[in-house]
Amino acid sequence: MAFEIIKDQKSTNFGKGGNKNYKIEVNFVIVHYTAGTEIGDLPTLLGKTSKEVSAHYYVTKDGRIYELVAPPKRAWHAGVSKWEHNGRVYNSLNEWSIGIELENLNGNDNQYPKVQIEALVFLAKYLQNIYPILMDPLRWIGHEDICPGRKFDPGKLFPWTSFRNSIGSPTSDPDWLISMRWLYNYCRNDQTGLRNLNIIRSVLRELTGK
Ligand SMILES: [Zn+2]
Repeated sequence: MAFEIIKDQKSTNFGKGGNKNYKIEVNFVIVHYTAGTEIGDLPTLLGKTSKEVSAHYYVTKDGRIYELVAPPKRAWHAGVSKWEHNGRVYNSLNEWSIGIELENLNGNDNQYPKVQIEALVFLAKYLQNIYPILMDPLRWIGHEDICPGRKFDPGKLFPWTSFRNSIGSPTSDPDWLISMRWLYNYCRNDQTGLRNLNIIRSVLRELTGK
């Protein structure tokens, strides 16, 4: 299937404190599921309801890709959030990230259709072309990663490994090491996981000599 990015529907929910010209510094992409279906989701993401939410992109189950807020404008998708990457801590990820909403009632229960993931890969490559920093698959993370315990999207059924493999491999590290780093970062961001942090750190040191 040939994908395209539909740009004729724009959200009114963007900016910061009334400043519509506010620009973010793109460092990450946050993947979400909408918890609704297309008919209900689009008006909300476009700002036509009272909910103050939006996303830069919206990908339907049948593979349509809408650009609702053009980066580097600031969309409203992350909320109170925190992430650490390469030793730097990022708060309020709306300042640092592009948000992509995937149409899905619950990504912990419902599979993501193949065509939807293919559309997401197409969008990823489009964004990587504009923002080379996003070539690093580890800069593509879930809402649940940056808001542990508060958010559960994109959920257990989002195919992280195959998705990341599809959008590049900037490091020569094997998958298990990438997974360990992910676990490490996850626990580091999750207050309840701090107990595990030292164990993971020592295993990483053992395996990598660092
Ligand atoms: Zn979300």
